[in-house]
Amino acid sequence: MSNQQVRVRFAPSPTGGLHLGGVRTVLFNYLFARKHNGTFILRIEDTDQNRYVEGAEAYIFDCLKWCGLNPDESALTGGPFAPYRQSERKPLYREYAEKLVMHGHAYYAFDTPEELEQKRKEVPNFQYGSAYRNEMRNSLSLTEHEVEQLLKDGTPHVVRIKMPEDETISFVDMLRGPVSFDTNTVDDKVLLKADNMPTYHLAVVVDDYLMKISHAFRGEEWLPSAPVHLLLWEYLGWKDSMPEWAHLPLILKPDGHGKLSKRDGSRLGFPVYAMSWTDPKTGELTPGFRELGFLPEAFLNLLAMLGWNDGTDQEIFTLDELVSKFSMDRVSKAGAKFDYEKAKWYNAEWIKKIDSDRLVAECKVALQNKGITVESDEYLAKAIELVKDRLVLINDIYEHAWYFFKQPEEYDLNAVKPKWNETKTELFKTFIKQIEETENWSAADLENNFKALIAEKGLKAGDAMLPLRVMLVGGKFGPHVFDIVALLGKQETIARVEKALQAFTA
Ligand code: GLU
Repeated sequence: MSNQQVRVRFAPSPTGGLHLGGVRTVLFNYLFARKHNGTFILRIEDTDQNRYVEGAEAYIFDCLKWCGLNPDESALTGGPFAPYRQSERKPLYREYAEKLVMHGHAYYAFDTPEELEQKRKEVPNFQYGSAYRNEMRNSLSLTEHEVEQLLKDGTPHVVRIKMPEDETISFVDMLRGPVSFDTNTVDDKVLLKADNMPTYHLAVVVDDYLMKISHAFRGEEWLPSAPVHLLLWEYLGWKDSMPEWAHLPLILKPDGHGKLSKRDGSRLGFPVYAMSWTDPKTGELTPGFRELGFLPEAFLNLLAMLGWNDGTDQEIFTLDELVSKFSMDRVSKAGAKFDYEKAKWYNAEWIKKIDSDRLVAECKVALQNKGITVESDEYLAKAIELVKDRLVLINDIYEHAWYFFKQPEEYDLNAVKPKWNETKTELFKTFIKQIEETENWSAADLENNFKALIAEKGLKAGDAMLPLRVMLVGGKFGPHVFDIVALLGKQETIARVEKALQAFTA
């Protein structure tokens, strides 16, 4: 590898939201590139116009940006092999298809959609391949003269690969070792469509070649396409330049039965997409890890651990650590079960780990989404410090800290009213006076003063601490009550105690 420039690519088709498996593919490409001082390329494979979805490309770029996996070359950043969007490269593919036809590795097929449909009706499990291609209308079954005429007349046609019969095609996968395919099981895939647009199979090979891709990490679902690609590399005379492939294992449903799908997410109540995605046609919203309150650091960390480990018990890794420790020989061949509880654990760990400024910025957005305007970052930082250990998702900040930003509208009266009495009313009235005069506004001093007051009135600490908590936050929850008082400040504490006293004594 030392004398070869490492160039890897993520090559998504912009067809909708990005599945976590897709982001793991990005991550492994990225880690490999960084580890080997290589180049990470993002190529948009948008040749299938029927599957093209408005907004999906921008979404992919946003996802990569959110994760901090920025490509070195892409349709946005440009680069020496531009364009990086296959639809913009359309004119260059025909030449390669023609070359394949010329050398007898591909052929023109003139069958109309109706004719193909008819054949599919006649032959169960019809495969356009060696068994039937002579019964179809193509440049192998028709005479040279007929073909010439059809082409001259501008008859719509596609170009298909001519799969060899009874051959075994093999390659060595970086993960799986030697993999073989029987050519009889693969049909004569379309390479170029009637409108000159290449299919994925032709475009991926041509572009991996032209963009000098050295290694390609892609999902296991692409393994069945590998024989077609292998043949194309060979037929186009580029075999020596073929990238090394690694087909990454699937991310499985929590029960291990089959690939984790978008539907599993909605069925089981967890995200499957990196970021929320709204289908522009149906308006259907699929929630994403980002919007549910995952940190990108945690998201990448948990994705890395789905199918990789460094051979120790370490589970928390920064991206830099992943770059330095990543190696293909520790990537598992077996599918990795997705465990949402574990995913949340990673997030909670990362919430404890990231620096305060980051956490403030993240929580601010989450609070804003709940209608809370944060006026002071410093104040928010202090509130976060008090509840940080309880946060699993960033969005939990609202549930655990809303009362630092607004007064409770309701009180858990059952917790205080049955034991309320005149002495307590007196206590809290005196407490208001006491804190009005308090200059040393620290949790410890405030608590000591309050406890002294409680003793003076002949009450027990517990009888007064709980009502104070309910006064400040509305119920029996939250961190240490004098930490709340200290942060709310004098005016706000007084306002809340006064307001609650009215409710408690009404
Ligand atoms: N365009 C393919 C996809 O949508 C890429 C497969 C590959 O990496 O070769 O995922």
